[in-house]
Amino acid sequence: MLDPNKIKSRFPIFSDSENTDLVFLDNASTTQKPDVVVEKLNDFYSRYNANVHRGIYRIGELATMEYESVRKKIAGFINAKSEKNIVFTKGTTESINLVAYSWARKNLSPGDEILVTEMEHHSNLVPWQLAAQQTGATLRYIPITEAGELDLSDLEKYLNSKTKLVAIVHQSNILGTINPVKKIIDLAHNVGAKVLIDGAQYITHASLNVDELDCDFYAFSGHKMMGPTGVGVLYAKQVLLEEMDPFLSGGDMILSVSMEKSTWNDIPYKFEAGTPNIAQVIGLGAAIQFIEDTGIDKIDEFITSLTKTAITKLQSVRGLRIYGHGPSSDSTSVISFNLADIHPHDVAQFLDMDNIAVRAGHHCTQPVMLKYNISSTVRASLYIYNTPQDIERLVGSLQKTINFMS
Ligand code: PLP
Repeated sequence: MLDPNKIKSRFPIFSDSENTDLVFLDNASTTQKPDVVVEKLNDFYSRYNANVHRGIYRIGELATMEYESVRKKIAGFINAKSEKNIVFTKGTTESINLVAYSWARKNLSPGDEILVTEMEHHSNLVPWQLAAQQTGATLRYIPITEAGELDLSDLEKYLNSKTKLVAIVHQSNILGTINPVKKIIDLAHNVGAKVLIDGAQYITHASLNVDELDCDFYAFSGHKMMGPTGVGVLYAKQVLLEEMDPFLSGGDMILSVSMEKSTWNDIPYKFEAGTPNIAQVIGLGAAIQFIEDTGIDKIDEFITSLTKTAITKLQSVRGLRIYGHGPSSDSTSVISFNLADIHPHDVAQFLDMDNIAVRAGHHCTQPVMLKYNISSTVRASLYIYNTPQDIERLVGSLQKTINFMS
């Protein structure tokens, strides 16, 4: 079993004199960075800072080699067939927008349907609302149950010959629910629909095999898996990337430019216009190496076990209601709750006075709020440097809050 105290000592932020008793439970929002990621960024800027795919001088070639080696690493990490399947973006949001602009606008027409779910992050919802408005397609929603799971009882009704795209979250950022994406992908393919998976939360702690899943697109962010901000990934099947038009245009994504027209670079470069986030990509490579050295299965096992402990302890707090995480639910890492009728922002502020960082709000999932008839929740989300003592501190502080407020 992974030792979170040992892991924690690898994260410089927790050694900062102002953070020594910080309990960081906002990991679904962004994760802290281990020493190897911070050092890698420093190393790039101090030893071989140069643009990529351009200079033929030594440090330019070194930067390009490091940058491209991360593409290969990511392909291996998610079991993609080739590094050509890996497009670097700014994050999950940009990856999804890339598909919404370059694939959806070309392939959708009036009468077509896009199927999403009621538990999507706004990043996997608003781009489809816009695409639907602009193409005349219709957006349909798989509902969620009171237990915070997808209600798949009528899935065959939602999937039909009009369905052209299914865009679905792998793990909910508010309920922690892990969706049975393989089953949905297979059924969607049976009606000829393409499938995009929003993997922003899932990939941070669980192993992923895009080849086995057979998804058409998979989107994720580097900063939620210990990498820097400003870098994300779109995995896409090669045939789709070949067919799609560019998203952003400018330098590096072209093969030739004349006064009249331009032709496009090979994939994946066709989708990477301008100077990319070089340091961030290289930093993400170090984060993935850290995950591989720690062991993704060990990470998953640890987080799932800590989540179970946290849920049991939280349930003992008077007036606390947890959303999702029913007895039969496949869920982990993210726990949303409300504490009696105390406003979530007040709860978060009380916790902050004890140096416990949680998030309060709608978590970019307003349809879920509507479903439960609430405006916001408190969210504690766990990662590998959280300890059982962190959970004790959270529960103790919540108990103090409810005693004080009543
Ligand atoms: N999808 C899910 C499930 C998320 O949790 C998030 C971020 O919280 C996003 C998409 C958007 O990620 P980013 O802001 O890194 O683009």
